[in-house]
Amino acid sequence: MVKKEIEKNDFKNLLKKGGLKSTPIRLNILEIFSKNNKPINADFIFSKLKGITDEATVYRSLSSFEKCGILKRIDLRMSSIYFELSDINHHHHIVCTKCGEIEDFKESEIIERFLLKIVKDSRNFKNITEHSLELFGTCRVCN
Ligand SMILES: [Zn+2]
Ligand SMILES: [Zn+2]
Repeated sequence: MVKKEIEKNDFKNLLKKGGLKSTPIRLNILEIFSKNNKPINADFIFSKLKGITDEATVYRSLSSFEKCGILKRIDLRMSSIYFELSDINHHHHIVCTKCGEIEDFKESEIIERFLLKIVKDSRNFKNITEHSLELFGTCRVCN
């Protein structure tokens, strides 16, 4: 109970930092993101908020969250757009191209060092400011 209160306040701060007013719907959406530790799309959120809000409001909220940097767009090569909270530990994704199962994997030092080497060896680039890494394949169920 106490933990939930803290989370709600965190979301309020997040919205404030993004220059957005706290509304029940916005707080609900952020709560859904923090409860589901994987990229989610508008359909998923709408299914959780059915009867509480309409699709247009969900889409509008997602777009303003993305603009102010609360959410990060993840390209999973699916027909819909997936988002994740920007404020979580840097990590990457593995996606099943058959059923859409998504798994996170943590950043590893080897990957990080490898990326730095790529930039060091590059003729035209001096630094990288960010990167994303998504792997595509089939999960154990679909294989
Ligand atoms: Zn993720
Ligand atoms: Zn699968």
